[in-house]
Amino acid sequence: MRKLAAGNWKMNGTAADLVQVQALITAHPAPGCDVLLCPPVSLLSRMADLAAGSAVQVGGQDCHPQGSGAHTGDISAQMLLDAGAHHVILGHSERRADHGETDALVRAKAQAALAAGLCAIVCVGELESQRDAGQTLAVIGAQLAASLPDAVPDAANLVIAYEPVWAIGTGRTPTLTEVGEVHAFIRAAIIARYGEAAQAMRLLYGGSVKPSNAAEIFAVPHVDGALVGGASLTAADFGAIVAAL
Ligand code: PEP
Repeated sequence: MRKLAAGNWKMNGTAADLVQVQALITAHPAPGCDVLLCPPVSLLSRMADLAAGSAVQVGGQDCHPQGSGAHTGDISAQMLLDAGAHHVILGHSERRADHGETDALVRAKAQAALAAGLCAIVCVGELESQRDAGQTLAVIGAQLAASLPDAVPDAANLVIAYEPVWAIGTGRTPTLTEVGEVHAFIRAAIIARYGEAAQAMRLLYGGSVKPSNAAEIFAVPHVDGALVGGASLTAADFGAIVAAL
């Protein structure tokens, strides 16, 4: 399947940083993978306009489970779509930690995203203490069971990102064997849940992916791309990751 390089700008970037997007488009006019950038919502429609007609798609970093209403500061999946988004990241560990997001809320958001016509990128991952205690697969299994939507009519619209919390922004990564073990486990879990169609759901690895380790991570079975934080902020680094896919 075609791989996906997804960049998460988190709470970084102003209009001046859109030059990085233009540089990425110019340097990689026909990438060998799908390319997605998820900027802060303040930049979403401007980035979508800039990327129109290019290989770069844009996405949100969160959405509310409801379509509209009295939810100050929130944004709905329909609004993201209206602003030009194709995807939305859901259940990122920073949202789970900063905003107390539960698996049940992530699931409700994922269902709203699919209903609106967005591709949902649902994040799961263990804490370092859970890995040290040998609980990684149990933690991931429980997150998958409770965070994923009930029904996924089109397998292309559900992406799962495995992001060990201790690897995000730290420069540390699991071994390739550990990445492969978790990705194989996720594949088996989603096949058990959704049937053979889940073979076509993309599984991203996220956590300190950079140009120097991208190729070896992408070679691991069931790694269908990456969710990239810090290294997605510049065209040079993200372009090198795109080129490695
Ligand atoms: C992320 O925020 O999803 C992430 C993986 O960050 P980083 O690449 O900076 O570790």
